[in-house]
Amino acid sequence: MTKAEKQHLSRVQSLGCMACRQIGYRDTPAEIHHPRAGAGAGRKASHFDAIPLCPAHHRGINHPLTPSIHLDKRAFIARFGTEAELLEQTRRLIGWEVA
Ligand SMILES: [Zn+2]
Repeated sequence: MTKAEKQHLSRVQSLGCMACRQIGYRDTPAEIHHPRAGAGAGRKASHFDAIPLCPAHHRGINHPLTPSIHLDKRAFIARFGTEAELLEQTRRLIGWEVA
């Protein structure tokens, strides 16, 4: 991982969980989620596409009020938006220009 990637990931992570933010909980400690969209066979998702999600919203705790992107992606998207939308919000929050 390059220094720029590391710096980017720590900024992203410091935003806290993007799903929790939508329901009014700021600064929930987050893990890094890498969307698979755009990453073809054998190509890893870019660190610059990372989205911060807390362990519950990322890997899941199997609770209907907390759909997780890995356990129940459809429910997660219905509630919080697509990975592309969350990525756009993430980039705005760290001050990236979003086309
Ligand atoms: Zn969360």
